[in-house]
Amino acid sequence: MIFTIQVSTHFIVGIIIQYLVFNYLKIFPIWALIIITIVFGFLSHAILDPLAAKFTYHPPEANWHDIFWVSYHLGIYILTIVVIIFFIQYWIGMIASIIPDILDWGARALRKFKIFHLEWYNEPYVHNFIDRPMLNLMSGIKGNINKKSKVLFEIILDSLLLILAIIMVYF
Ligand SMILES: [Zn+2]
Repeated sequence: MIFTIQVSTHFIVGIIIQYLVFNYLKIFPIWALIIITIVFGFLSHAILDPLAAKFTYHPPEANWHDIFWVSYHLGIYILTIVVIIFFIQYWIGMIASIIPDILDWGARALRKFKIFHLEWYNEPYVHNFIDRPMLNLMSGIKGNINKKSKVLFEIILDSLLLILAIIMVYF
């Protein structure tokens, strides 16, 4: 089972990572800054996704008949687009922050086409691997991804991260 925090959260963290790396590690050449951003972006995914399993509202199936589910996700999509527009110069960090999703979901999409020979990729292998340390750390916490009030955790987390990103980049 894949528990994934909303893409907006990943993006904002990726933006903050790229900002910090490119501003505070300037002594390194540009290619090194890009690699460091990718590594930390990737690692941030391993921290954020397991939080989703414990603290957020993430019903495993899309529910288009539930007005709450629909409006929440609509809000997230709008937020994601706004974030991309205002922080487009941090695209490396944004992409780096969702590499595990690109790999696992990409493989899942490509599996339908025989030509890629991806029949063996029948599990989210990257997530299964990287999520393990954090899930072990939080093994005592019982999560309930169907509980609607848990959107609060993600809304608060996104708001705090967004405020931080805006202050860093625009002030
Ligand atoms: Zn993920």
